Amino acid sequence: MLLRSKNPFLQAFRGQANNILNIFKGLPLTTPPFSSMTLDLDDVAIARHLLKAPETWHDESRVKDYEKRFAQWNGSKSAFAFMSGRVALSACIYGLGLKRNDEVIFPGFTSRSVANALKFEGIIPVYTDIELDTFGLDADKIEERLTTRTRAILMHHLYGLVCRDYEKIIALAKRYNLKVIEDCAHATGAEYKGIKVGNLGDAAIYSSENSKVFNTITGGLATTNSKKVAEGIGEYYDNASIPDDEMIKTQLGSVVLNYFKYAAPQQWWRKDAAQILYGKDKIILLTKEEEMGIKSNDYGQKMPGAIAEIGINQLGKIDRYNKLRRQTAKRWDKWCEENGYKKPLVVPDSEPVFLRYPVLVEDEKKATRRWSVKELGIHLGNWFSVNRQTISAHDEGCVNAGIAIRKCVDFPTLT
Ligand SMILES: *Cc1c(COP(=O)(O)O)cnc(C)c1O
Repeated sequence: MLLRSKNPFLQAFRGQANNILNIFKGLPLTTPPFSSMTLDLDDVAIARHLLKAPETWHDESRVKDYEKRFAQWNGSKSAFAFMSGRVALSACIYGLGLKRNDEVIFPGFTSRSVANALKFEGIIPVYTDIELDTFGLDADKIEERLTTRTRAILMHHLYGLVCRDYEKIIALAKRYNLKVIEDCAHATGAEYKGIKVGNLGDAAIYSSENSKVFNTITGGLATTNSKKVAEGIGEYYDNASIPDDEMIKTQLGSVVLNYFKYAAPQQWWRKDAAQILYGKDKIILLTKEEEMGIKSNDYGQKMPGAIAEIGINQLGKIDRYNKLRRQTAKRWDKWCEENGYKKPLVVPDSEPVFLRYPVLVEDEKKATRRWSVKELGIHLGNWFSVNRQTISAHDEGCVNAGIAIRKCVDFPTLT
């Protein structure tokens, strides 16, 4: 993560110019923001308070408290807080004792930051096809990808849906003596048979990036129920650096700015005021280097006390927001039924969180997502479609991943 300085006045001006353009284009001014977010005024108050007390930013006891609370809420033995989910993944790779040139099976339809985290640890990511019911790894496609160098399977619960083949993958990994890492970046709080996802594998990662289930602007956690793996992750953690005060300040400012930007976009004057007060620096979530698969200099940081403080407050809201998401999903269920689209699969005995609601639509409907603004009053997501790795996954015979890239759009669930 890097900072980029911007002229806040120019940004505010551009925002207003865009509003005027939208009026001319006949688009609504008050479309719900793309990034359904969980920041509220209480988070803003905490961030503002912290901004005035930089001497408290490095209070490690706040981080320990956050990790303990998260582990407890999640039903896991231990948790480690990092500056992002991808770094948590790097820590898991290290903690599981995976070595350079080991192969890891992973879904051909996911965030490019996942492939990067594997590559940064010297791992060879082996793209494997997904199913189109929950967009998870297809258990039947794994065996053909195994080699003598395969050491682990990275599975995910995409869009907050519990993966269709969850138990099958865990069983298969046992049979072949492979480790399982669960990517729960979309599924924090989702349950299978009454247990939160992330607890059946050997280690799991979670993300509190702005567009995910809960929000610290950037942030992530790694969890495990194994003492040995915890020791390994702990070693990575102990060697990790902490972001500098400039970064922490920008991140706290972003809590305020993003609240006004996304929670009340119709009140543009508040957004513009926040932009001018807090918007000089911007955090870059995927740097140019990372886009090309190159590790940034500050990759691998752990979370400081100030951000953990926001995390503690956010943790208390996850269940409430996930309930809201599940309610909105019913609206999209109905839309699918009425318009002849397939609903995503809710695995029996699972409680998904529906971070977003995925639907396979016609290629043209994905290519021109604007229709959703006029017809539904929302902005559709096209997560993981503009990702060079997933496109090459298509070339490597991941047929369903290719279909998802062409056809899968995702609806917001906090509108
Ligand atoms: C966002 C995301 C991650 C990584 O989380 P960051 O906190 O952004 O590093 C991992 N996996 C998936 C599927 C994601 O969408």
